Amino acid sequence: MANINDNYLKLQAGYLFPEIGRRVNAYLEANPDVANSVIKMGIGDVTEPLPEACRIAMSKAIDAQSKRDSFHGYGPEQGYLWLRDKIVAFDYTPRNANVAADEIFISDGSKCDTGNILDIFGKDNVIAVTDPVYPVYVDTNVMAGHTGPTDDNSEYTGLHYLRATEENNFTPDIPADTKLDIIYLCYPNNPTGTVASKEYLTAWVNYAIEHNSIIMFDAAYRDFITDPTIPHSIYEIEGARKCAIEFRSFSKNAGFTGTRCAFSIVPKELQGRAADGSSVSIHKLWHRRQSTKYNGVSYIVQRGAEAVYSEAGQEQTSELIRFYLENAAIIRSSLAELDITVYGGVHAPYVWLKTPDNLSSWDFFDKLLNEANIVGTPGSGFGRSGEGFFRLSAFNTRANVEEAMHRLAVKLTV
Ligand code: PLP
Repeated sequence: MANINDNYLKLQAGYLFPEIGRRVNAYLEANPDVANSVIKMGIGDVTEPLPEACRIAMSKAIDAQSKRDSFHGYGPEQGYLWLRDKIVAFDYTPRNANVAADEIFISDGSKCDTGNILDIFGKDNVIAVTDPVYPVYVDTNVMAGHTGPTDDNSEYTGLHYLRATEENNFTPDIPADTKLDIIYLCYPNNPTGTVASKEYLTAWVNYAIEHNSIIMFDAAYRDFITDPTIPHSIYEIEGARKCAIEFRSFSKNAGFTGTRCAFSIVPKELQGRAADGSSVSIHKLWHRRQSTKYNGVSYIVQRGAEAVYSEAGQEQTSELIRFYLENAAIIRSSLAELDITVYGGVHAPYVWLKTPDNLSSWDFFDKLLNEANIVGTPGSGFGRSGEGFFRLSAFNTRANVEEAMHRLAVKLTV
């Protein structure tokens, strides 16, 4: 019998979404008449169709694939240069962020990139995640053997949790005495919907440079930032090229969740330490890893992603983002009218609400389901500090958002 990777046995059985499903099914079994009226506001998937500019570009790319003289087989390992050049020109140069096209690695998702990057790091790093957190950072570190088992609080031993609370505006304090090797930061944040200021990110970059740490900066929701003074990239911060990897995705800004295109940025300056104490280029290792284990994104999809940067694509993606942010604004104002404290939802598609009457996250889940037939995500599912909070996603149709908020106003007893 072959041995398995025992680290997988440390993973807590995917608790959050199965438990949501179990409670919704039990409710529907008891109340079959409302089966069609339950509104799901827990999901982080987009609802609106792909921008027309992307669809046209992909359909032209399919035509090109049908003729021998314009056919494309295996593509360049880091992705096509025409796409990487556009990313630099549209997303980084205008914000004075120094990123070169050959530091960009096109991929099929930030979920995969944030997990796969661990292939090139050793086992003895001190890893820090925020709490609450996007669960992929935690689970991929567990799979890679970077943690011990869970403790009584269902937190993994060996992992350093940075508490994101109301008191610190969901931007965790930077530890004064602990040396962290790898730090995951995600802003705009999933699940809290909050953003990080330039001062805050500068403090992290200074910490990372002082301690030779690497920041894994997930900017999946970057395009939802509406205030130009808020950093859109970690590379807007001086020194970040020496200490940060950035992850970006077309999933949320251009509706690519089912089409798949993303990228990671690994600056050439970034170094790690080998067992013999020598410095090694992280860029070289990631290039080696990706060109060995990964085939890249199809020509057709990269053409679709490139079209995000066309004039029509820019207009259409801005319109999509405006639409979801309007949903978020409707959710925020409806909750505020019920005297519920809300965070996020201004520069992010997630509203993070404080449960009324000190209800636990799961008690509020049940109340919302029972009284208004609305399904959201209990904050405690994202970590211990999420207890007492609840996430509502703005990725929905306008009709659903309006109906859900109407029900809250007339049915929810707070
Ligand atoms: N990063 C964060 C913070 C997310 O919330 C998500 C998706 O919900 C992703 C990454 C996944 O992005 P992708 O679709 O590119 O894998």
